[in-house]
Amino acid sequence: FASLDETRTLAIYDPSIADWQYQQQILMLDVEDALRSADMWLEYQPKVNIRDGKVLSVEALIRWQHPEFGRIPPDQWIPLAEQVGIIHSVTLWVMDQACRDFDALKVQHGDNIGVAVNISAKDLAHPLFLEEAGAIARRHGISPANVILEITETAAMADPDVARNTIRALSQMGFRIALDDFGSGHSSLGNLASFPLDELKIDRSFLTDVLLYPIRQKILKAALELGEALDLDVVVEGVEDEAIALWLQQFPGLHGQGYYWGRPERAVAAPANCR
Ligand code: C2E
Ligand code: MG
Ligand code: MG
Ligand code: MG
Repeated sequence: FASLDETRTLAIYDPSIADWQYQQQILMLDVEDALRSADMWLEYQPKVNIRDGKVLSVEALIRWQHPEFGRIPPDQWIPLAEQVGIIHSVTLWVMDQACRDFDALKVQHGDNIGVAVNISAKDLAHPLFLEEAGAIARRHGISPANVILEITETAAMADPDVARNTIRALSQMGFRIALDDFGSGHSSLGNLASFPLDELKIDRSFLTDVLLYPIRQKILKAALELGEALDLDVVVEGVEDEAIALWLQQFPGLHGQGYYWGRPERAVAAPANCR
């Protein structure tokens, strides 16, 4: 599906692949400037307990409003930033900004709120990442236990040995680890055992037509049971409507994320007297 999407993107943006690739390289020159300006910001989307709707954590999602090209969704430029080697500064910026917003998030959602950031495979391979991640949390006085690092299966499997070592170290530092988009990548179930996971995020593709086909329900249930058997917090991604939310209520302890409970939004600044 990924390559299909890419083809579509190319077709939409430019008939000439060479030009489009060139434009993408040029675009990457703007990233670091954008990080220092108001053109990039974070929005936060709640992950809730499906039974009572209580917000347990929020996921930071990066937004880019380019002065010339308008809104560029992360799916379209994060992979490029990985390719050209600037994802690391993006990740550090996101972690730092999320920690800055943490006070406001606590005012909004309570002191136990967790904040999740997306981490790339390239970060896991970066020699300074452990040190820098720890330093950011310390600098802001935030316990790593309140920070969830979301890692996609594809990232974890890109170089499993390196990923495993880094993830283990991050986990030992107290960070919580989530496996993102579970079931969408090329992973082997066997590899799950070698990562110290806290959370399993079931990819939203599992919800496609799930209320129509019992076979799809069985597959989703199997994925949920797997997460439960491994003692993980299980989050179903991409819940858009009430029918699915109600159907999911049959699973005790299940968590959900999706437009049904809340869209990604900026952290609300704490009133001055709360600081
Ligand atoms: P993700 O980490 O799986 O994030 C969830 C994506 O699903 C977000 O898209 C979110 O807006 C979208 N979403 C949430 N609820 C629903 C729903 O009910 N229906 C549908 N159709 N979509 C929903 P977004 O913000 O466009 O981000 C896309 C991907 O880009 C993310 O997927 C993540 O892989 C990557 N990304 C976003 N922010 C960052 C970041 O700061 N760093 C890195 N490395 N990657 C990021
Ligand atoms: Mg994520
Ligand atoms: Mg996801
Ligand atoms: Mg995704």
